[in-house]
Amino acid sequence: MAQHESKRARRRRDLIRMKAKARRLNVSGGVDRARHADHLAVCSCWMCGNPRRFFGETTIQEKRAFSADACERLS
Ligand SMILES: [Zn+2]
Repeated sequence: MAQHESKRARRRRDLIRMKAKARRLNVSGGVDRARHADHLAVCSCWMCGNPRRFFGETTIQEKRAFSADACERLS
């Protein structure tokens, strides 16, 4: 595509493309069809949803915080 495209230009171009796709798929099913442009999955089943809810997983930040806390307690 464009050889000297700035990162901002790329983001704007991608957003337009993603909004067009969201409008085409109409995942939200409403008037505001581009609303889910950056997350097309409106489903929250066990495959798409938050892993904490279904498997009790902790986030990376939480794992990091717990391990830092454990290290602190050791020293
Ligand atoms: Zn799903």
